[in-house]
Amino acid sequence: MKTLPLPADLSAVRIPRAAIPDPGGWTFDGDGFALAELALDGGGRWRNIAPAATNQAGEWIALPPLVEPHTHIDKAFLRARAPNPEHDFEGARRAIERDRAGGWTLEDAMARMERALELAWRRGVMLLRTHIDSQPDRLEPCWQVYAELRRRWQGRITLQAVASLGGGKLAGEHGERLGRLCREHGALLGPVLYADADLRANVARMFELAQRFGLDIDAHVDENNHGHGDGLRTILDHLAHAPFDGRITLSHLCSLSRCEPQEIELLARRAGEAGLAVIALPVANLHLQDRDRGNTPYWRGVTAINALARADVDVALGGDNSQDMFVPWGALDPLAVLRDGMLAAHLDEPLGDAVARVSAIAARILGEGTIGQWRIGEPADLTLLRAADPFGALSGDFEERLTVRGGKVIARLGWEG
Ligand SMILES: [Zn+2]
Repeated sequence: MKTLPLPADLSAVRIPRAAIPDPGGWTFDGDGFALAELALDGGGRWRNIAPAATNQAGEWIALPPLVEPHTHIDKAFLRARAPNPEHDFEGARRAIERDRAGGWTLEDAMARMERALELAWRRGVMLLRTHIDSQPDRLEPCWQVYAELRRRWQGRITLQAVASLGGGKLAGEHGERLGRLCREHGALLGPVLYADADLRANVARMFELAQRFGLDIDAHVDENNHGHGDGLRTILDHLAHAPFDGRITLSHLCSLSRCEPQEIELLARRAGEAGLAVIALPVANLHLQDRDRGNTPYWRGVTAINALARADVDVALGGDNSQDMFVPWGALDPLAVLRDGMLAAHLDEPLGDAVARVSAIAARILGEGTIGQWRIGEPADLTLLRAADPFGALSGDFEERLTVRGGKVIARLGWEG
């Protein structure tokens, strides 16, 4: 692979607070950025990360290694092949049923899943968690492909997988089979918990299986507009009398932002006390929630990120589906997700802190706490944007975007000039 040269002058680069483990001694502007002098050694590792000697900004902005904490690469790029003309959740479910009825070949799954990883890699993703449809008749070919890709991409992207299926399908022998499969692949258990009459039983079964097989959990919870937070409440009630040893991540949690304000604060506080982490999926839920054909929506579909953050809940932002029947948007680019998430959820925190939601905070939720920040002596993994302003850069107003891994430029986006 041809590599491009790194910019020669990194003596006054704007860097976000989120990228450095100890921000003491640095001076940050209102966007949460500081001017840094960066230097690499001959082996592509950080030799210097220090406050710049000048207050005259250079032409580069540097961002930390990126994380995609929630995607579905098994379904990626199916939008045109399996269209969802209704654009809603039920239409998407019908479209995937139709597409899977013909059976998926290993070649098809491999090509789409690997293309997703290529995109993520070129956009600076070092750690990626994908959910994989795991209904009784759907374990293959995707788990086989996942195992092969995990091996093939080792050293480039750290991969995690979650076995995903309707919560009721964990019952009986298939639940046991999934417990063994997850343990074998180092994967998580991730049912989709619907707010139906079986919710309590499905939550109990999820925890019982995960505890017995030693698995962490990342469940799709409250992806609806009911405004009751039924899934979150049921999980909190369960944990109040049945402790669980693994990590618990709840994805989506849309319905929480429809609860009454006092209820949101109370549930957020209980989530914080229970040590839950949350992954919000702004692009997917802007697209799927509050969809009433012909009408313009007024609810944004995202969870109550600000209230959760105030209650010390780690909240990351994920891209969810990419160019499939559920979500036609998405190119495995955490910076696009960050921009859309800040806009959708009114994340008014400084951008230099918010970037942690697609880097350090996301990595911590995924149990890979060393990813997402720079340390002297470690490989220099970063995104460099030649841009005057960080908001402009995330809006596409940049001359170049370079993905740097171990000190080498592995991808470049920008004007050809
Ligand atoms: Zn999802």
